[in-house]
Amino acid sequence: MIDEKSIQTLMETCRYCSWMYVLLAALMWFSCNNEPEPKVEVADPHSYAMPSEAKVTHLDLDLNVDFNAEKLIGTAILKIDRSKDSKQIRLDTKQLIIESVLISPDGVKEKVAKYRFGQDDKILGKELIVELEPQTQYIHISYQTEPGAEALQFLPPALTDNKTSPFLLTQSQAINARTWVPIQDSPGIRFTYNATIKVPEGLMAVMSAKNPTHKSNSGVYSFEMPQPIPAYLLALAVGDIEFRSLGEKTGVYAEPSMIEKAVYEFGDLNKMMNIAEKLYGEYQWGRYDVIVLPPSFPFGGMENPRLTFATPTIIAEDRSLVSLIAHELAHSWSGNLVTNATWNDFWLNEGFTVYFENRIMEELEGPEYASMLAQISYEDLEDEIEEIGFDHLDTKLAIELTDRNPDDGMTSIAYDKGFYFLKLIEETVGRKSFDQFLKKYFTEHAFKTMTTDDFVAYLRTELLENHDDAEEMIQVNAWVYDTGIPDNIPFNPSTRFQAVEDQVHGWIAGLKPKDMKEETKNWSSHEWLHFIRVLPDSISSAQMDSLDKVFDFTNSTNSEVQCVWYTKAVKSGYEPAYENMKQFLYKVGRRKFLMPLYEAMTETEEGTEMAKEIYRVARQNYHPIAILSIDKLLKWEPES
Ligand SMILES: [Zn+2]
Repeated sequence: MIDEKSIQTLMETCRYCSWMYVLLAALMWFSCNNEPEPKVEVADPHSYAMPSEAKVTHLDLDLNVDFNAEKLIGTAILKIDRSKDSKQIRLDTKQLIIESVLISPDGVKEKVAKYRFGQDDKILGKELIVELEPQTQYIHISYQTEPGAEALQFLPPALTDNKTSPFLLTQSQAINARTWVPIQDSPGIRFTYNATIKVPEGLMAVMSAKNPTHKSNSGVYSFEMPQPIPAYLLALAVGDIEFRSLGEKTGVYAEPSMIEKAVYEFGDLNKMMNIAEKLYGEYQWGRYDVIVLPPSFPFGGMENPRLTFATPTIIAEDRSLVSLIAHELAHSWSGNLVTNATWNDFWLNEGFTVYFENRIMEELEGPEYASMLAQISYEDLEDEIEEIGFDHLDTKLAIELTDRNPDDGMTSIAYDKGFYFLKLIEETVGRKSFDQFLKKYFTEHAFKTMTTDDFVAYLRTELLENHDDAEEMIQVNAWVYDTGIPDNIPFNPSTRFQAVEDQVHGWIAGLKPKDMKEETKNWSSHEWLHFIRVLPDSISSAQMDSLDKVFDFTNSTNSEVQCVWYTKAVKSGYEPAYENMKQFLYKVGRRKFLMPLYEAMTETEEGTEMAKEIYRVARQNYHPIAILSIDKLLKWEPES
């Protein structure tokens, strides 16, 4: 995923530790059943599943999408792999209404199952325990989702780009799959799936699976996902969408009003795919398509296999923001193919992906371009460390998230500290050796999970031991298991950004904006972003105006530029940008842009009033995840 950086805790941290759960569960089991204590097994602190007892290997979903009631209604049939003597299977559920549970040895001879709810927790949801008979291989669950299920966003037509049909999208990462499917929601448990999805006439459904390319007259769509995935990669989107092919195995889905722009924007997708495959081996998922979602999608992108979910804010009409797609494509190896065993190992998903993304962009746009991206990573990392503190335990790559929401670990540490650790290894052993190592790593661990400790052991035996002094030069333990940023971080300032800073210094010394046109005419959006970011904090409204008259930042259609420019406008009191900022905030729901703008406004009393005025109108357009963050920031009361 991209954009989860620097978010606050989304929900209250759980008050009890998971060991307490196990103890309680054991006691309850013992007192209610007079059976022996269950095995103590907490491999994944964010799932009730006990895979050594029984685990899901295949899911058959049959769901009806009810836009009026804003829920999904249907059945999930789970095929399981179990030990012979196991007496139950434990599933994760949250905000689900379970109507019936059947079991069978073959998927046909079904009988009513005994089931009960076990532990119940604000973050993890409810444990569903189904009793197994000696021959049970299938569990058939009829259920529906509750309104407000965390993974689901039902959008009315007004919140789409086309404004004619409703839209549904899911976001299962990190532990939200359990709010729309009763499943073992742990990154360590993989299963294949088939699905039948019934949607209102005129809409198309797509999933993280083999997808349709045309609308069906009946509104019924069938899906097959032949590669095993963990539950957090289950995904569904429904709306008035169209498909366009971009190549033999790439394509794009979007609302009709957006589709042509999307086709242009993702024109480099095939090139990216070729680069990625050349670097780290064959793409393992069949097709790679991207769906451009309505503007209220709170993230940049989500790497749902076969079908990346992307924010429309990357459509800048000049292909300048497509590194996000390189990131999501890279996840087809790091994350989707070799998956973090638990959310404590999240840096294995994201650090590798930022590294891989950088390599794709280097190949596509050149080393100086990649160096700009690396500097942005470095600055994000510094900001994060400054915010949470150099000695804070959450600055470790090997983070400890037991008893907490896994979203707490989705910070710049996993992404950017992870990236710099891998970059340091590359620079120490040489790119050739490192690339060989990574290719082998992805091949040998394809469709498996990886823990931090196992990766470190693998790194040592497969790479570092063959290079004298590498371990000592890199300081692996300090990078992985200690807080803060080690001194040997391989950061080199970008020369293109230095040229940008030269322009800013010239401007401060009296250079007129119109005389900067020649020097800046070939700048990428990253250079423009850097330019706005390094403008002095003390910039006056009149100075903002003189820059705006020449460079027209206020009317930019590049969402990244809009965000930093409007933030600067709020801080300097540059009012001519306010109306465009308001329109931006009404339309866009990507939290990466919302937070800095609302935060900038809350720095003054007057600004806070403006923020509340905008939010009163805009709030209904935002995703619950974004609402949670901004409600907290503005101390929002529903009636205020
Ligand atoms: Zn990511």
